[in-house]
Amino acid sequence: MPEGDTVWNTARTLHGALGGEQLVSSDFRIPQLATADLRAWTVRESVSRGKHLLLRLEGPAGDRLTLHSHLRMDGAWRVYAPGGRWAARPAHLIRVVLGTDAAVAVGYHLHDLALLPTAEEDSLVGHLGPDLLGPDWDAGEAARRLAARPTGSIAEALLDQRNLAGIGNLYLAETLFLRGVSPWTPVGRVADLAGMVTLAQRLLAANRGRWTQSTTGSLRKGETTYVYGRRGAPCRRCGTPIRMAKQAGRVRYWCPRCQPASDNRRLDDRPAEQPHRQL
Ligand SMILES: [Zn+2]
Repeated sequence: MPEGDTVWNTARTLHGALGGEQLVSSDFRIPQLATADLRAWTVRESVSRGKHLLLRLEGPAGDRLTLHSHLRMDGAWRVYAPGGRWAARPAHLIRVVLGTDAAVAVGYHLHDLALLPTAEEDSLVGHLGPDLLGPDWDAGEAARRLAARPTGSIAEALLDQRNLAGIGNLYLAETLFLRGVSPWTPVGRVADLAGMVTLAQRLLAANRGRWTQSTTGSLRKGETTYVYGRRGAPCRRCGTPIRMAKQAGRVRYWCPRCQPASDNRRLDDRPAEQPHRQL
């Protein structure tokens, strides 16, 4: 599941393969960019912004362009040696191929692929809230954005990339479990929003640099999550079967005992939480 950490890892892989190098091949396989040609352009850097990928390039005349892509549920970039076999996915899913003398980067099933002046990146990513894995990460600002709409559910608010950027369904489920909060709890009833987003940031950051996503500390298959993907399996804390249901069209996983509905819960039943830091 490509979430902020996967996108961060992908950006780093692309940077390692292409950063500082001049492109010698360029092949766009989508109609909108069929005539684009990035040969002789130099890749300055590859960075992630939430779940968006930005490949920044400099042309022979000094112009700056950014190639934007989004992985959504199923996209991927892979790097191969020149002449190597592109084995990751079927060829018909290839959307772009960029090559240097030393590496070939192949983008599969990429979404929102766009080439635009670097100075205009904000038209695609300017709406995003603080990036959980970005240099601008700011838990207080993320909490303020969440708190601005107190009646919506906490699950939908944490997935709304305008509040904070990088969380997908896996980290959502795991963060809410670890905080003992039901996905249906209104934002205004969550005691410590800053603490919640700080935990989410720690969970994503722990998986930087590896492709296995674990929130439990175990990298063994079947042990990497508390509730995500574990419908019907016993809760690792209390043994209650993990539940799954749809909310706003997305699948949610939760433990009904560890994450009781907020309305059935007295304030003094809540686990001890850090007081909200005044900023
Ligand atoms: Zn439980």
